[in-house]
Amino acid sequence: MGLGHVAMAAVSAEAAKSRFGPFALNAQAPDEGNMHTLLHWATDEQKQIYLRPLCDGRTRSCFAMTEPEVAGSDPTLIQTRAVPDGDEWVVNGHKWFISGARGAKFAILIAKTEDGPEIPQAGNSAFLVDLPAPGWEIVRDVETMSGGHNHCEIRITDLRVPADRMLGGRGQGHLLGQARLGPARLAHCMRWLGQAETALDMMVDRATQRFSHGSLLSEKQGIQWLIADSAMELYQAKLMVLHAAYLIDQKADFRSEVSMAKHFVANALGRIIDRAIQVHGALGYSTDTPLAQMATQARWARFADGADEVHQWRIAQRTIDAYQRDGSTRAATGDLPL
Ligand SMILES: Cc1cc2nc3c(=O)[nH]c(=O)nc-3n(C[C@H](O)[C@H](O)[C@H](O)COP(=O)(O)OP(=O)(O)OC[C@H]3O[C@@H](n4cnc5c(N)ncnc54)[C@H](O)[C@@H]3O)c2cc1C
Repeated sequence: MGLGHVAMAAVSAEAAKSRFGPFALNAQAPDEGNMHTLLHWATDEQKQIYLRPLCDGRTRSCFAMTEPEVAGSDPTLIQTRAVPDGDEWVVNGHKWFISGARGAKFAILIAKTEDGPEIPQAGNSAFLVDLPAPGWEIVRDVETMSGGHNHCEIRITDLRVPADRMLGGRGQGHLLGQARLGPARLAHCMRWLGQAETALDMMVDRATQRFSHGSLLSEKQGIQWLIADSAMELYQAKLMVLHAAYLIDQKADFRSEVSMAKHFVANALGRIIDRAIQVHGALGYSTDTPLAQMATQARWARFADGADEVHQWRIAQRTIDAYQRDGSTRAATGDLPL
């Protein structure tokens, strides 16, 4: 529809008020991130084969990078290996937590192709893999604290991928990852805004109806503080997402702002849902409301697509750099004119 990221913030936040909203709009992870990736990196032929049906909602896809044996936070450690063999690549390796793998028509697969690259990050390449394929075995759907949600473990054995299915150039996996992860992380934040707003709505709804010790919960200062803290955090979260989305739309450097938004919104989401559960008492702990499910879903937000600590490391690095370069930290706090 030609919507930019600021406009998508409104769409995705609204869609995520229902668990199935993003799917109804075909704006769910990981397909949405894969659409962006293909739009920017695929050849015209690859776009026709993979992007068009994905946008039309006729296919689904997955993104396969994380491995059980090595830290997903550090892609230079990736062990899945692709070796050229004539007009094909032969891939062997092991992946897990590959969302949407079951039923996916294709995967964007990250594998090591380069030995001794100029910079350590330039050792990986991306491949488009048609699925199902001989050599691509779904071992299991990894059961999580919120159940099984098609986050699969994959064993890759002598998988053959035609050379023209490489996405981007050799050793460009990290560039592709960076281009993908900024907007994809922010798209998560947009959906989390919708979840956080739902939790706050539920908190206020319950507080204005539940009566205890002579007054409604909403009339008690202790509960008002929970509501006020949540309202302030949601407001901050919305502003951070809108600003980061604006920077992406402007093609400006968005890395710090997306990192700060990802960290802040993920943590605010957990706190707001937790307060909503507290105000609901036993009902909040039950599965009679969506809050319990929302809480376990929210937990992964703090480490998937960049763990809190890795974002904090990068944010601190950029803040120190800004001060050493400009004599001021302003550029690292959104570079706003104030
Ligand atoms: C629900 C869900 C869906 C996912 N979907 C996908 C998917 O579709 N495709 C895919 O490829 N992956 C997917 N992942 C994997 C996800 O991207 C990884 O979990 C993430 O990259 C972190 O990697 P890891 O789990 O190996 O943790 P590790 O890298 O082992 O990190 C563990 C912890 O160590 C700490 N840590 C790591 N590095 C540092 C550092 N430099 N400084 C300080 N502390 C540090 C952090 O606390 C971090 O949480 C998914 C995960 C979940 C939970």
